[in-house]
Amino acid sequence: MTDNGDLPTEVVPDIGGAARSRRPMRTVAEQLSRVLDTIGSVDPIELALLDAQGLLLAEQVMADAPLPGFDNAAMDGYAVRAVDLKQASVEHPVALPVVGDVLAGQRSVAGMGPGLCMRIMTGAPIPPGADAVVPLEHTDGGVARVAISRPARTGDCVRRAGEDLAAGALALGPGATLGPQQLALLAAVGHDRVVVQPRPRVVVVSTGSELVDVGKRAGLGEVVDCNSYMLAAAARDAGADAYRVGIVPDDHARLLDLLDSQLLRSDLIITTGGVSLGAFDIVKDALGQLGSVEFTSIAMEPGSSQGFGTLGRDRTPIFCLPGNPVAALVSFEVFVRPAIRKLLGKRNVHRQNIQAIALERMDSRDGKREFRRGLLHREPDGRYSVSLVGGRGSHLVASLAASNCLVIIEEDVTEVVPGARVTVQPLMLAQR
Ligand code: AMP
Ligand code: MG
Repeated sequence: MTDNGDLPTEVVPDIGGAARSRRPMRTVAEQLSRVLDTIGSVDPIELALLDAQGLLLAEQVMADAPLPGFDNAAMDGYAVRAVDLKQASVEHPVALPVVGDVLAGQRSVAGMGPGLCMRIMTGAPIPPGADAVVPLEHTDGGVARVAISRPARTGDCVRRAGEDLAAGALALGPGATLGPQQLALLAAVGHDRVVVQPRPRVVVVSTGSELVDVGKRAGLGEVVDCNSYMLAAAARDAGADAYRVGIVPDDHARLLDLLDSQLLRSDLIITTGGVSLGAFDIVKDALGQLGSVEFTSIAMEPGSSQGFGTLGRDRTPIFCLPGNPVAALVSFEVFVRPAIRKLLGKRNVHRQNIQAIALERMDSRDGKREFRRGLLHREPDGRYSVSLVGGRGSHLVASLAASNCLVIIEEDVTEVVPGARVTVQPLMLAQR
């Protein structure tokens, strides 16, 4: 897809900064739909039940046997024939001989003749001949003989075989999200393994010759790589299995070698750094030449320069995000998280935005969608309010850590006044 001349344009200083050139800008919405159109799906795999938690089922699971598997007692009490208790009342209890006990887990149960009853525990099989259970509290609790003070109807306190699911019925179908309840059902119908949409494998690469790994004291000119931790965590939070593969210096050949070696094990690649206009912005240089990764100017702040495309035979999606941590996280939230959710097979790939009252004035550049870091509060009346955290600088990691949301200021809004409503994207941890 190429930009067309109708798109808004941005004035961009060239490398020297003296001359100014105009290049087309794409809107956030356009870039996002390009991303989502490109993202395909990951082949389903079979996993053990607990490993499938949070994933989407990719098969039909039928109940091979009825659920419950047999008629059983819903209460502790006495298995009876309803017809024997027609006259029972508190004033005139009916006394029946107790001919045995039926326990939960009992594998075989003797039949029960007319005018008799059996003591029975919750979950135990209803003895042949009985058609109802009288709860303990409507009896005198007798062991050899029991006085019952209430009539019963056929089926009272009996859980029927197959009343939950009939044999051969669909238990769960493709697309079902496997939370605790669904895992319970799969176990109940006897499936210890299921075919699911797997967690996409996301590889995170930090580029920059200034970067050092955490644990090493950064000297003059050196910067500790925090992006790879942030993005690996964000990718996991989005539902991916994330791998940090460490730092690549600003060197074409080493970047291409590393990406080549990672392609086999990744469903999606994220790089940070090296995407602006500088002479050493090698990600843009090296990948821009391949033809399958496009570096675009996007009408957003931060994150206005970044790349997206595919690599290798399998057309593995790659996001080349800016190096500044705030720009990298905003870009992740806007483009990469929805892509990961799509790879997971989720129907709704977007976070739920909320409306909040602005507690302070917020300004924004015309024509760009601005993402400011914010602190979202819940007021006593249940409404949300939001204040800004930190300035515009997208290198501010401490203020990023103090924020819990992004405030989204639309392209055509240049000012939000205190008390106005503003759209907020919460960054609270999602359930994996
Ligand atoms: P770049 O996009 O490569 O021009 O980098 C922009 C800014 O982000 C520079 O100040 C970099 O030092 C910083 N930066 C790049 N990568 C990282 C990283 N992985 N962790 C922390 N800061 C980074
Ligand atoms: Mg760099």
